[in-house]
Amino acid sequence: MSKENSLLLPELREKCGVFGMITPGEDAFPYVRLGLANLQHRGQTGSGIATSDGSHLHHKSGEGYVMQTFQDDFDYRTNLPGEIAEGHTSYPTSRASKDKRVHLQPVMDEGGLVAFAHNGNLADTSKLERFMDKKGIPNNGYNDSEMMQAGVAYEMKKGAPLEEAVAKMTPHFTGSYSALFMDKSKIVAIRDPRGIRPLSIGSQNGSYAFSSETCAFSSLGISHVRDVSPGEMVILDGNRIRSEILEKGKQKLDIFELIYFARPDSELLGQSVKMVRERLGINLAREMKAKNIDADIVIGVPNSGIPSAIGFAHEADIKYDEAIIKNLYVGRTFIGDDETREANINLKLNPIRAALQDKDVIVVDDSIVRGKTSIALVKMLRRNGVRRLHLAIPSPEVLYPDFYGIDTPRQEELFAYMHKTPKERELALGVDSLTYLSYQGMIDATGLSEKMFSTSAFTGKYPIDIGKWKSKVDWSQR
Ligand code: AMP
Repeated sequence: MSKENSLLLPELREKCGVFGMITPGEDAFPYVRLGLANLQHRGQTGSGIATSDGSHLHHKSGEGYVMQTFQDDFDYRTNLPGEIAEGHTSYPTSRASKDKRVHLQPVMDEGGLVAFAHNGNLADTSKLERFMDKKGIPNNGYNDSEMMQAGVAYEMKKGAPLEEAVAKMTPHFTGSYSALFMDKSKIVAIRDPRGIRPLSIGSQNGSYAFSSETCAFSSLGISHVRDVSPGEMVILDGNRIRSEILEKGKQKLDIFELIYFARPDSELLGQSVKMVRERLGINLAREMKAKNIDADIVIGVPNSGIPSAIGFAHEADIKYDEAIIKNLYVGRTFIGDDETREANINLKLNPIRAALQDKDVIVVDDSIVRGKTSIALVKMLRRNGVRRLHLAIPSPEVLYPDFYGIDTPRQEELFAYMHKTPKERELALGVDSLTYLSYQGMIDATGLSEKMFSTSAFTGKYPIDIGKWKSKVDWSQR
């Protein structure tokens, strides 16, 4: 985050996507472009790709979708040549939407020493700032990613090879990072010692790739080899790969990756995201039985609510119907003021009146963060003739803000934090009933141990120090 702004909000910098690949004997750009397009759900504000032709780094980034910045006729052989490439899709930040700044990556120094693509957020940059100030490395006004890049470039200028420079700098990084550094001949991947954000390794015809999510591998015919371990550095040099443990890690994947961020055709910690979402819906239906709610149909909110809605309908033995159609060509709507957001939702989601009119409906959406989406959705469904509307959420109440790069806002903006009782919440949303999945119901659905996850949004237990933000959190919800 830029230093001047560092006390306003945690820099809401993103659940982004990173993809990198070395393709001996051919240009890497086409692979990385398609890889990034498959990570577009992780960020739509902008994208960038850096390549190496063996003697120089090349770089281009732009606002908008990957395919807008890198159109079919983009002359990559002239502009982004080389067998080594990495890229980034960025996520709209709250601040970016207000002051129109878009942070594009990969970040690269003017000398073209090292390109850097980062998914995550350094929750506490004070250690890194102190180091940089001591060494006289300029960092004022830099965001966390720019500082990380500048630190590594500094070590390289002193003569360290890329992997050594990265290893030297990582002790100064406090926060979440699944990141790719690239120089003229290598890509070096690192993952923070808690593995908050995903990062996987794939292989194809003897070459290797890194991706935030496995869906980008499967759609390119790349096989998923394994994940980068928390605290590990993986060095990809030509078609050789080697690994170094920088710090003994403990897996704490952000459970929100399973609930919402990741694409259903990805695998996280060996689990299919789609199957976990179905089980979340099944568990919710089981827990909701006690309420004796009857309905004509169960509908899912596209896209992330759909697998859970299918699981729910099956378990509750109520007909699943597709009653909301998503316009695929409008971006995700998490950011924006309330008005824009409501207009966006109306543009993006179109209900089918014939399927909804005079029906009692159970609506399944993946989560409620600020409640803005749900409020707009409920209004829209009521306008389309829904009689009784039961909102079913296959995740627990979000009570704590995020500091690891997923852009959940200040605590006072969180719906469940601001509306404490079930009645208050139902009233605020305008629903006949609201049911959240229990915490244990969520953990059980993952098929994994609770220990594998960061559940901070629900529990306020932050597995990586959040530094000065500690004093800004109301811990009384625990
Ligand atoms: P809201 O309650 O209006 O803040 O929006 C919540 C909806 O946005 C959820 O149903 C998800 O589909 C989606 N969502 C949840 N968390 C995030 C996030 N960190 N970034 C972007 N979208 C999110």
